[in-house]
Amino acid sequence: MSDASNASHARPPRATYLPFSPPSIGPEEIAEVADTLRSDWITTGPKTKAFEQRFGAYVGAPGGTALMLNSCTAGLHLALATLGIGPGDEVIVPTLTFAATANVVEHVGARPVMADVSPDTLCLDPASAAAVVTSATKAIMPVHYAGHPADLGAVDRLAEQHGLHVIEDAAHALPTRYAGALVGGRSNFAAFSFYATKNLTTAEGGALTGAPELLERSRVLGLHGMSRDAWKRFDRHGSWEYDVIAPGFKYNMTDIQASLGMHQLQRLEGFHERRRAVARRYTAAFAAVDALEPPTERAGASSSWHLYVLRLRPERLRMARNAFIEAMAERNIGTSVHYRPVHMMSYYAEKYGLAPDAYPVAKDAFERMVSLPLHPRLSDDDVDDVIGTVLDLVATHAA
Ligand SMILES: *Cc1c(COP(=O)(O)O)cnc(C)c1O
Repeated sequence: MSDASNASHARPPRATYLPFSPPSIGPEEIAEVADTLRSDWITTGPKTKAFEQRFGAYVGAPGGTALMLNSCTAGLHLALATLGIGPGDEVIVPTLTFAATANVVEHVGARPVMADVSPDTLCLDPASAAAVVTSATKAIMPVHYAGHPADLGAVDRLAEQHGLHVIEDAAHALPTRYAGALVGGRSNFAAFSFYATKNLTTAEGGALTGAPELLERSRVLGLHGMSRDAWKRFDRHGSWEYDVIAPGFKYNMTDIQASLGMHQLQRLEGFHERRRAVARRYTAAFAAVDALEPPTERAGASSSWHLYVLRLRPERLRMARNAFIEAMAERNIGTSVHYRPVHMMSYYAEKYGLAPDAYPVAKDAFERMVSLPLHPRLSDDDVDDVIGTVLDLVATHAA
């Protein structure tokens, strides 16, 4: 066992609260935002364009560029709308995800059909997905849960067999590698989130990648369905004229957000190194503890380590998950749960008549999971505090 576990005996509680996932904003981001605010253009403009190109180049997006948006939810919604998915259609989503993955399917009037997740990665279980394919299925939305890549090989085979579109919910997947390649480089749609708690943040924001022709259609749909965007209309060579070719949405990113994103992207590799190092220390400390099930990385997969989702083993611990979370909070350590499965949310449970044990792997994982603090601002002492506190609780409440 590690030094940290030795240090854990009779560990004094932290003097200050350790937040679960605070943002890492540096002086470069602040200076860039101030520069934008002092300029003549604060909404979608040159900085958003530059961020789109740098992000697209980084993930290897087809066509070399991404589409910047005001959220990942907007990106997922736009992907469905661009593909013409609507009433009468079904879209397969893993039930263990943030509700937005299913909500956007409702937004286009289609039916989200839940599938269970694999017990090791907690990503979409391809066999469970295959079992719910019908003649109405139009798309499948794998989620790279906690930053671990979904089984894209199996998803592709299923999609080819049944003629389905693939839309990756890549909210956690920066930077995530599947078979050596970064998520975001494939020709299907992938939607990233830059929400305040995500691996790269613009406070609120998101990016969509995908085949260039489709992405251009999404760009138009994401800005009122206008044939040319405002930045082009208002620059010196611009013209007031535009047409509306579809009843589009208002999903554009601002240059204030892009100011944050450009510098966050430059720091991303450093952030990722720290996340991975913290995850390794957690796993080294927990791997040999009977009451704990640390997350794993499959061969050939590289996680972004967005979340560190620890599962408790109730047969080894006389302390339920909620009590565990309360005890961590009492000891000044913030944690969270990702997620109550979508089929257990009242809207979906009632509308589609879904019982809690309809998806047993997701339900079991949900009941035993706790997400530990995982972010680049954690010091080695913070990590020791988390490890020491978890080991203390486990030792005190061992079954
Ligand atoms: C955060 C998140 C989203 C939504 O991202 P926003 O940018 O807040 O719209 C979607 N799916 C998953 C899995 C997420 O974690």
